[in-house]
Amino acid sequence: MTPPTHAATAPSPHTAAAPVSTQALTLLAGDRVLIDRADLRLDAGQVLSLTGGAGTGKTLLLRALAGLPLPGVTLAGQARTDGRRLLIAQGGRLAPQRPLALQAADVIGHHLGLDASAALRRMADALDRMGVPPAARRFDLPPERLPDSLRWAALFALGIAVGPAVLLADAPAAGLDPTVRLRLLHRLAEWARSSATALILAGRPEDGLDGPADARLCLHEGRVLPTPPIPDPLPAPDHAHHPAGAAVMTAHGLTMSFPMGTGPTGEARRLTAVHSLDLELVDGETLVLLGESGSGKAMLARALLHLPAPSTGRVVWMGRDLTKADDATLRRVRRDVQPLFPDPAGSLDPAMTVGAQLTAVLESLRPDIPADRRPQRVVETLRAVGLPTDTATRWPASLRPLEAARVGLARALMPDPRALVCDEPLATLSAEDRAEFWDDLLTARDRRHLSLILTTERAEEGLRHADRALVLLMGRVVERGSADDLLHHARHPYTQAMLSAARGDRPALEGDPPSALRQPDGCTLRQRCPKARSFCAQAVPTLEPVGPGHAVACHYWDTP
Ligand code: SF4
Repeated sequence: MTPPTHAATAPSPHTAAAPVSTQALTLLAGDRVLIDRADLRLDAGQVLSLTGGAGTGKTLLLRALAGLPLPGVTLAGQARTDGRRLLIAQGGRLAPQRPLALQAADVIGHHLGLDASAALRRMADALDRMGVPPAARRFDLPPERLPDSLRWAALFALGIAVGPAVLLADAPAAGLDPTVRLRLLHRLAEWARSSATALILAGRPEDGLDGPADARLCLHEGRVLPTPPIPDPLPAPDHAHHPAGAAVMTAHGLTMSFPMGTGPTGEARRLTAVHSLDLELVDGETLVLLGESGSGKAMLARALLHLPAPSTGRVVWMGRDLTKADDATLRRVRRDVQPLFPDPAGSLDPAMTVGAQLTAVLESLRPDIPADRRPQRVVETLRAVGLPTDTATRWPASLRPLEAARVGLARALMPDPRALVCDEPLATLSAEDRAEFWDDLLTARDRRHLSLILTTERAEEGLRHADRALVLLMGRVVERGSADDLLHHARHPYTQAMLSAARGDRPALEGDPPSALRQPDGCTLRQRCPKARSFCAQAVPTLEPVGPGHAVACHYWDTP
């Protein structure tokens, strides 16, 4: 939270005139134009989303509006912000180790001249506005010990408590699950409208900031432009297909659990991340595993690869039961089923060139390919994923994120696999890069007749590119069906909430997911679910068919 530095700070939190306006605001770094003649006007109580990719100048523009210094940058044109203004900087900077109560007293006391107890009362009211119940408030804890969602809610509450006329939020709640992020941002937007505060939410196009906003602008090549309409979410036409082949992989009763020491009465505790789950992967299809973080989708993907082997249950690949497989069989399966990991750049060896790493995969998994044919295979595979052949001589540190992702894909394709199990392979990519990488993945699938399993928390994006989907909630499948059915006719409140968040709408779920170690009885969604009734606490819902190939685990899926 940055204290105001403008001279024009009004004592009232509200102003009648437009509290934010710029005319031909231009930011220059030497001769380079960073922001070109931006005209902005934001009325009291209006919420504006300002989106753009990395490096488009969002942060600079917010800092200019906040009146903060911009070293090395020259300003031309006009920028006016009236009344008290606050900037919530990227990452939401609270002192990590200072208890929240002391920080609230400092910030609110600084802005409003209140004593500590009055400041805390004001903070408590603001936490109400952010939907944080009294039982969840931990004023005594430092932010580093708060869950991320509560830390962000506390930061927004601090902003609310100060009562600014203008609140500028740079990448607000970035890193939270979309369902939790959108819930907080919609609450913040509601507060801004009701308190006549001008609110700017700045972030990447894919962050869903347009949903809570009344007005939408984007930054493109230095210009502030109206945000283009969101394209109709139809399946990617080039790759839309619905294979009806045989199952290549099945999982039966798959459970992943881990010892977690002993509880207060000395009892052994276990964390169960995946509960007795069944799965089938059909030849040539794309199956997405959807869920918030902590849903168990990554653990499931790893169990399918036997990295590590499941606690109980079995995985069968092309008729071979992996739980009973000898080393030679497992090695053969590792060649057939290749992983793609979440951080492509981080999963490459920084001390080896790209070519050396791809060659090492061949040496390990395809000893049948003669050494003199390996270089040609490296070149062909790099070309197949859209990389120039000289990428083989580059070091991982020199790769851009999309290039690193493509190298990761090339490495997975080197042994000529039959299936890829991809754990959030697009998580670190920008929206533009993700679109390109989806295209790479689906092209590889179609050309090489691969089956794909892919985990993602981006429900709509995953469903647009997949054939079928499983939705995971705390290690259990709560909905499964064709991607088309789930995209247009999702039945489970959790799936519906993830899709709402992806579209920028306010998700109907309240609160955060419970701890995996203290899951509630019955349905694990019941503390957040708008449809929950008392019976939801009594029995864990099981999957029941609701249409061809479509099943839902919810006691009340058919009630409004
Ligand atoms: S079983 Fe109850 S709590 Fe769970 S999703 Fe259905 S209605 Fe909500």
